[in-house]
Amino acid sequence: MKNLLIVLSGPSGVGKGTIVNELLKRGNYALSVSCTTRPPREGETDGKSYFFISKEEFLKNIREGGFLEYSVHFENYYGTPKKFVENRLEESDVILEIEVDGALSVKKAIPEAVLIMILPPSEQELRKRLEGRGTESEEKIAGRIERMRYEISKKDEYDYVVVNDDLEAAVCRIQKIIESCKEN
Ligand code: 5GP
Repeated sequence: MKNLLIVLSGPSGVGKGTIVNELLKRGNYALSVSCTTRPPREGETDGKSYFFISKEEFLKNIREGGFLEYSVHFENYYGTPKKFVENRLEESDVILEIEVDGALSVKKAIPEAVLIMILPPSEQELRKRLEGRGTESEEKIAGRIERMRYEISKKDEYDYVVVNDDLEAAVCRIQKIIESCKEN
């Protein structure tokens, strides 16, 4: 059976990270590690959270065709290393956790990739979650809400949409989607 490339996207604060961690605990999936030019946040490890590289290195990688996709998000570059994903796919299903523009590029390059968008129950709920973090300025939150609207506007181009109103239910739903895709 061929291994699947599963692409998860969704607005910031929707709980993608928690969902991915649950999936990794429950199934034999490999998580792709992206390259980024943004500086590491506290607790992030190079090679695990991301490969943290300079803009020069990133641009060189683009020129050399090293990315399956890449995009610029809030002024930083993010890209999926092509070789890394190809190698992981030999062994198991692979999860990419990337934003919508990158996800749609992956779909163009690899039509059999399964695109899943995770959405909050409502915009209001997401705003509440972002404000609850207490780490974001009003301006930043407004930027994220605007970005959320853009991401939602692309949802029809995704294969599946999962609403994260309950973590357990959302994880189970994604597992079922993956299982059914593997059967077909
Ligand atoms: P953060 O800086 O919060 O870790 O990630 C910001 C956004 O970049 C998130 O939506 C995340 O899904 C996305 N992202 C992470 N890695 C990649 C990647 O390799 N390619 C693309 N297109 N987006 C990515």
